Amino acid sequence: MNCPYCHSSNTQKRYLGRTIGGSLGSVAGGIAGLEGASAGALIGSTIPVIGTLAGGLIGFIIGASSGAAVGAIAGESLDGTVFDEYQCQDCEQTFNE
Ligand SMILES: [Zn+2]
Repeated sequence: MNCPYCHSSNTQKRYLGRTIGGSLGSVAGGIAGLEGASAGALIGSTIPVIGTLAGGLIGFIIGASSGAAVGAIAGESLDGTVFDEYQCQDCEQTFNE
């Protein structure tokens, strides 16, 4: 892929939407995961201390990781549409194919 501005071949895909989507998703998922965490903690609390911690932790991790995956997929659809897909490493212009 050559830069349309300076014709350099030193260009890179950016994955901006995917990166942003993944980060936002993991935050949102983490918050949603906290709900799952309290439910998990409640269930886990039938086994004192360890159960509460493990239940809460599992709920949070599941929420955060599934949120990140969903966010990355949603963000990926923005790459090449809302965000330019490539960036030139020489002149720092961004562009699409
Ligand atoms: Zn360039």
